[in-house]
Amino acid sequence: MIVLKGAEVSARIKEQVQRMLEGWDGPAPKLAIVRVGENPDDMSYERGAKKKLESFGLRVDSYTYPADISDADFKEAFRAVNEDRDVSGILLLRPLPKQIREKDIEKMIDPGKDLDGISPANIAKVFAGDASGFAPCTAEAVVEVLKQNDIGITGKRTVIVGRSMVVGKPLSMLMLKENATVTICHTRTKDLEETCRGAEILVAAAGRAKMLNGEYVGKEAVVVDVGINVDENGKLCGDVDFEAIQDTAAMATPVPGGVGAVTTAVLAKHLVRAALERRR
Ligand code: NAP
Repeated sequence: MIVLKGAEVSARIKEQVQRMLEGWDGPAPKLAIVRVGENPDDMSYERGAKKKLESFGLRVDSYTYPADISDADFKEAFRAVNEDRDVSGILLLRPLPKQIREKDIEKMIDPGKDLDGISPANIAKVFAGDASGFAPCTAEAVVEVLKQNDIGITGKRTVIVGRSMVVGKPLSMLMLKENATVTICHTRTKDLEETCRGAEILVAAAGRAKMLNGEYVGKEAVVVDVGINVDENGKLCGDVDFEAIQDTAAMATPVPGGVGAVTTAVLAKHLVRAALERRR
């Protein structure tokens, strides 16, 4: 089985980003990471994104607010970041605390700065197959992993386990745009094992540690594991039992070291696109 390493895909995206920035003068594009509270998962993602973007020569600033901030105060603070001309793109770490009406923020965010595709305008574009918007970075990262490794998508039986608005649903639209034949699975899916086994491209985005074992993976399948979980020994793992598929899958992404590294590279590419579009 060939291991599809995220670092290699990320390095190629870095080259693209550097080409996009040729001729750029003045301070590098700036990402604003907006975080409410101190969720350790958010803070770890924030650190990873900051490190990656800075290694691409981009600027990152964190805007953090207490977990008990009121809806009105958060909206005022968010509006200021949204309108700041020095900020080219925004990453909002979610979910937000319950007192903040997240739906309002999704409508407030400037679609041109909405790098993770949470605004209705960007969601509509993803579903319409219009590439001028921003798709959620993780969903796009899955497509990047396939394309950068020259894995054909057209006509392939593609099974996506998970139907969230962050991964499963937008990814199914992005894969459809690439002419895959897409099946979306979820907790009510019957015959999940058999459906997954029939996939030529299998994407796991369920958030269940090592749930997809050898029985779920067909011979020569390409497996992309989006899951980030902690196993019974406290170690990071994906939704796929990586050891159990070694003899059946043709290729698979590891966790850690797979899709996660590509997600932050896609975020960097989105930031540069947003900055270039704003300048035009
Ligand atoms: P989510 O909102 O919890 O959605 C999980 C989806 O998986 C749901 O649609 C759920 O079905 C389905 N599901 C859960 N258990 C299942 C089962 N036993 N059988 C079939 N379907 C099942 O999660 P998410 O935000 O999409 O994230 C999914 C995973 O990706 C998580 O591990 C998360 O940490 C990871 N993630 C990684 C990145 C990255 O950069 N690599 C970024 C974002 C998320 P129902 O709709 O029926 O409930």
